[in-house]
Amino acid sequence: MSPARARAAAALRRSGGSAAPPQGRSRKRASPRGGAPAAAPAPPPARHLFSDPAEVEALRGNLLAWYDRCKRDLPWRALAETEPDADRRGYAVWVSEIMLQQTQVATVIDYYNRWMQKWPTLQALAQASLEVVSELAGQMPRTAEDLQKLLPGVGRYTAGAIASISYGQATGVVDGNVIRVLCRLRCIGADSSSPSVIDRLWDMANVLVDRSRPGDFNQALMELGATVCVPKAPLCGECPVKQHCQAWRRVEKELAFASQKLFGKPPPVSDVEDCGVGDCPLCPPATEPWDSSLGVTNFPRKAAKKPPRAMRTATCVLERRGCHGAPEYLIVQRPSSGLLAGLWEFPSLPLAQDLQEEKEREELADHLQAWMGRPVAAKGLQFIGEVTHIFSHIHQTYVVFSLHLDGDVTLDPALSPSRWVTEEEFHASAVSTAMKKVLKAHGKQCRKESSPVKGSKRKRGAKAQGAGSACPGTQLSLHAFLQAPPAP
Ligand code: SF4
Repeated sequence: MSPARARAAAALRRSGGSAAPPQGRSRKRASPRGGAPAAAPAPPPARHLFSDPAEVEALRGNLLAWYDRCKRDLPWRALAETEPDADRRGYAVWVSEIMLQQTQVATVIDYYNRWMQKWPTLQALAQASLEVVSELAGQMPRTAEDLQKLLPGVGRYTAGAIASISYGQATGVVDGNVIRVLCRLRCIGADSSSPSVIDRLWDMANVLVDRSRPGDFNQALMELGATVCVPKAPLCGECPVKQHCQAWRRVEKELAFASQKLFGKPPPVSDVEDCGVGDCPLCPPATEPWDSSLGVTNFPRKAAKKPPRAMRTATCVLERRGCHGAPEYLIVQRPSSGLLAGLWEFPSLPLAQDLQEEKEREELADHLQAWMGRPVAAKGLQFIGEVTHIFSHIHQTYVVFSLHLDGDVTLDPALSPSRWVTEEEFHASAVSTAMKKVLKAHGKQCRKESSPVKGSKRKRGAKAQGAGSACPGTQLSLHAFLQAPPAP
C-alpha cells in the first residue's frame, strides 16, 4: 500500500469510513522505539483541506444532484448501472478507462461500442490473440488494491475507477480533471505534478468520495472537470459546487472590493486570503503569487517544463527472408513499465552521448551477440542513418543499423519477448511512431542501394500474412483490431 493510500485508509478508519479525517490537527507518528514521537510535517492551512464534515456532505449532495441532472449518456455508464454480472461490469469499465486514457470521449464511444460487440466479456477477449491475463480465469479482482496488483497496466487511477464504478468501493480517483477541480476548490497553487501534491490530492479524493454512491461521485467530479471546470474558461456561474470553491470565492471577493473601491467605500477589514505567503506546501511559490487577471485559472499550476533530455539509442533492423520470400523483421517487447512500456521495437541499446560511430557499432554488436548467442561482427552492421524523435521529455536520437541474417537464429528465451514480423504485421503491431520512422529510414536506404543495380531490387512489403492472420500471440493495434474483417 502506498503511503498516501495508507494515510487515506487510516483516516477513513478513524472517521468510521464516513467523514473527513481530523485535518487541521497535527498527525504525529509514533517513534519506532516508543519514545518521543517523531516530528510530523505541519498540516497545511485549513483552506486547503476539507476538514468540515458538514461541508463535505453538502459538496457531495450538490455534486451528485448536478450529476443526476446533467450527466452525459455514455455506453459504459449505462452498462455499469444495469449489468448484473459483476465481472462484465468491471470489464466494461476497464475497457472504457483504458480507451479514455488514449483519446477523447467522443472518439472513444464508437471504438468502445465496437469493442464490446466483438469482445463482450473478458473470456471472449482472452480467446482472441491479444495479450491479456489468463491467470485470472476471467474473474475481475473486486478491490482497487487487487485490481492494481493483479491487472497489467492498471494503475492507481484505473483501479480506483473500476472499483468504485463497478463494485461500489468507496475509494477516490485522481485524474487530470480531478486535479484541476480540487486545486481550484482548495486554492492549491503548488506544482500539481509533484508527488507530494498528488499525494495530498489522493487524500482529498478519498475523503470527499461519497460513501453510498462512490462510482457516481467519482464520475461526477471528473464530469465537472470535463464540462464545467474546464482548463481555460471555466463556467463558474453554472458550477454546482461554487459555494465550496476557494478560488471562486477569492474572485468574488476581489470583485466586491473593486466595486466598493469604485464607490469610495473603505475595504472591509478581512482582506482577501493571500496565498503564496509563508512556507505552505500547497500555496503557489512566493515568486508566483495570485494573478488577479487569471481568476480561478490561477490553479492548478505546474512547474516550468524542463527542456527535453537528449538521449542516443542504437537500434538494429534485423532482417531475414520469411517463408513466403518476403522480408521479416525481428521486434522485441519493451519492459512493462517506463517509457513506451510494453510496446515493441527493433533490438535497441541506450548509448552514452559522446561515443564515436565505431564504438556505437561495437556496443550494438555486443548487445546483439549476447542476445542471439552467436558472434555478430561489428563491421557486419550496416549504418543506415540517424532518426530523431521528440517525446515530451526526451529528445531521442536513434542510430540505425541493419543486419541481414541468412540462417535462422535462436533467441535467448530468458530475454525480452520477441518475434519475427512482416512489414505489414510490423505496422499492425503495438510499435511506437519512432520505430515506424526507423523502418521507413531503413526502407529508404534499401531502395537507394538497390535501385541502380538492375534485377537486384528487393521485393519489399510483399504480401505474406494479413494482420488478421497474424501468428498466435501477435499483438495488434487497437485500430487494426477494430478494422472490418476482409471480405471472404
Ligand atoms: Fe471550477 Fe469555477 Fe466550479 Fe470552482 S467555481 S470548481 S473554479 S467551475
